[in-house]
Amino acid sequence: MDEQRTKDDRTQIARHLKQIEQREADLYKAVSEDSIGQTDLLSYLAALSNALEELRVTESALYQQNEQLSSIRETLENEYRHYQDLFEFAPDAYVVTDAYGEIQEANQAASELLSLDPKYLVGRLLVSFVPEDHQRVFRSLLSQLQTLDRIQERELKLLAKNQKSFDAALTVSVVKDCQDKAIALRWLVRDITARKQMEQQLQQMQLQNLELVECDRLKSQFIATMSHELRTPMNAILGFSNLLLRQFHSRFEPQQLRMVERIFQNGQQLLTLIEDILDFSKLRSRQLELQLESFDLCELVTTLLEELRTQKNQKNIEIQVHLAQSSLMVANDRKRVRQILANLLSNALKFTDQGRVTIEVELWRDDRVAIAVRDTGIGIADSDLSRIFQEFWQVNQTITRCHGGTGLGLAITKSLADLMNGQISVVSQLDQGSTFLVELPRHLTDLHTPTKKPD
Ligand code: ADP
Repeated sequence: MDEQRTKDDRTQIARHLKQIEQREADLYKAVSEDSIGQTDLLSYLAALSNALEELRVTESALYQQNEQLSSIRETLENEYRHYQDLFEFAPDAYVVTDAYGEIQEANQAASELLSLDPKYLVGRLLVSFVPEDHQRVFRSLLSQLQTLDRIQERELKLLAKNQKSFDAALTVSVVKDCQDKAIALRWLVRDITARKQMEQQLQQMQLQNLELVECDRLKSQFIATMSHELRTPMNAILGFSNLLLRQFHSRFEPQQLRMVERIFQNGQQLLTLIEDILDFSKLRSRQLELQLESFDLCELVTTLLEELRTQKNQKNIEIQVHLAQSSLMVANDRKRVRQILANLLSNALKFTDQGRVTIEVELWRDDRVAIAVRDTGIGIADSDLSRIFQEFWQVNQTITRCHGGTGLGLAITKSLADLMNGQISVVSQLDQGSTFLVELPRHLTDLHTPTKKPD
């Protein structure tokens, strides 16, 4: 807009000047021809006075235009200084080159990055900061820039004047003339050495991670195979010792009988341990599959308690059961639900010397079942509660050693509950007792398909 106005003003002034020149020429001609009469002279003088007036107007217009021009120049200079400051003090390195890569301008950050004063940078070829074995790539980049408008984040090695080489990311925008010919290149240069190192470290870690996953897989496979191999002879030992106890006990001396009993009991403990390790390794490698069936949870709890009452209740602990309804049909893996409850109940009995162990079963919101196992035993300190479900974690090695156990029971229990889309939690107070609460879907349909562990 302003530019157009200034142009119009200038044309008008030029026209005025031309008119005045013309009048002055006419007057001069008339006076020099000597044929000028008084009337003519007067009219010429009036014209001259008009011309002078117009000259004055033109002069004042010129003055105004001059004022405008200097104000425009001042604004332009301010803007130039502003952009020069931005360029100069930008945190990133900026370099301006001609189309062949000869440096014309470089800011402070560029001078620091290339380790050379800006005034020595100007006139150098940018390629002189590229290590020899990367110069071919750089030259091909330059030739691409003749046809492109911009190149985003091209990575290249650069070599500073102090011989320090570094990884750089180059972003280049091309300045073109009206014939679309590249006349200048604006380079944004970023030192990405740290990023590259991180990427390398990440790659190494991913590689190590893969190796660890493979080791873990091999370990799980080894455990599974070993446990399987151990189970077969253990079953034979248990089967035969049980047979000796039941069919031939009358033929044994009391001491011999005690020895066979110990073989049988220790064999059972060992088998439980082997089964736990096998389950645990299957759960960890996500290879444990649930076998869904429909069964009565109340009936399962009652049967389990009867077994425990006869087997374990030598400490004279009262075992109570509260079933909210007489029968509660669920769809789940019966064997694995039994395993969860057996783990919790045997812990409750193991860590309670007097008082009660209670199991409660109820239905929640029609689609979830809640099972609580409470005891009045030794309890668990707050500081140990968060680690209670970790594998091989036992609160007090001395107590647990005399009670037996491996520290796998709760880890297996929690993994099973997770597999069943359920939850397990615990509330406990030292010397007061503990409550373990398991919440499971009533009808388990959406089964986790066993998959490989995530890498
Ligand atoms: P284990 O019983 O074989 O040692 P678990 O994983 O079943 O392994 O239990 C881990 C530890 O948690 C136990 O060693 C014990 O210290 C603690 N714990 C589990 N249940 C109870 C309980 N009902 N009362 C007190 N402590 C318990």
